[in-house]
Amino acid sequence: MGIVDCHVHLFPDAAAADPTGWAAARGENRWARMVAPRPDGRNVQGWAGVDRMLRDMDAAGIERAVLQGWYWERPATCAEHNHSMAAAIGAHADRLSAVATFHPAGGDSALNSLRRVRDMGFVGLGELCPEAQGYPHDEPVFEQALVLAGDWGWPVTLHVTEPAGCDYPGRVETPLMTIIELVRTHPDVRFVLAHWGGLLPFFEMNAAVARSLANACYDTAASPLIYGPRIAGAVAAAIGTDRIFFGSDYPILPRGEAEPTFEPFLKVIRDGGLSQGETEAILGANARRLYRLP
Ligand SMILES: [Zn+2]
Repeated sequence: MGIVDCHVHLFPDAAAADPTGWAAARGENRWARMVAPRPDGRNVQGWAGVDRMLRDMDAAGIERAVLQGWYWERPATCAEHNHSMAAAIGAHADRLSAVATFHPAGGDSALNSLRRVRDMGFVGLGELCPEAQGYPHDEPVFEQALVLAGDWGWPVTLHVTEPAGCDYPGRVETPLMTIIELVRTHPDVRFVLAHWGGLLPFFEMNAAVARSLANACYDTAASPLIYGPRIAGAVAAAIGTDRIFFGSDYPILPRGEAEPTFEPFLKVIRDGGLSQGETEAILGANARRLYRLP
């Protein structure tokens, strides 16, 4: 069984070609701050179109990638990104799946677009971040999207920031208590809390928190940019490996890399001190089950 990466970003070609101009034309200021070239040259965001992504997947032995949307601040940008991801999965159905992005300010038209992309083969919702997109967790249209996700068996990926960490351009606070409450109050939805859930798995040591998070899973996206090499073993020791899903956050650049690559992200899991069965679960088997992938 090949590897599944359940957290990659394939931005529209026009966005990758001119991130600053593209974002300015759409009012996507937060994303622009996050991906802008850094004055010290140590850029965090790398860029890859679909052809490069597929080549890099081949080189790393990744059989399938799940394209995540982005937590855009405008409904129109969500629609544009969903459109470009639909084209990519249409052309490469054997290698790529996608989850849809969404902004509740789009109202009924945003909800209808979820119905449309579902017919095109999309398998979930994400990567959303209400705090960054500017709506509360109980926003009524967001609530309707969560009901659809529950009805359709669509996992919902949320961006989660570690509460104790370093500042960086575009950092957004995602208070863990509010994430716990969102998950607890939507027991029919499978949530995938990105970036090891901002270390939320360790709070599952508290039995009440564990009960609230019974329908939460965690992905490993951007791990080497945030956490040390012991993270995989430590989280597995805390919650087991059934709810951990390999995600890279490709084409983000781990420290020291000038070009996008999957290898440093895979290394976190492979060198995590886990058994072969646990490693295989995280690297593919869990994601195949969650997203019902071929
Ligand atoms: Zn994220």
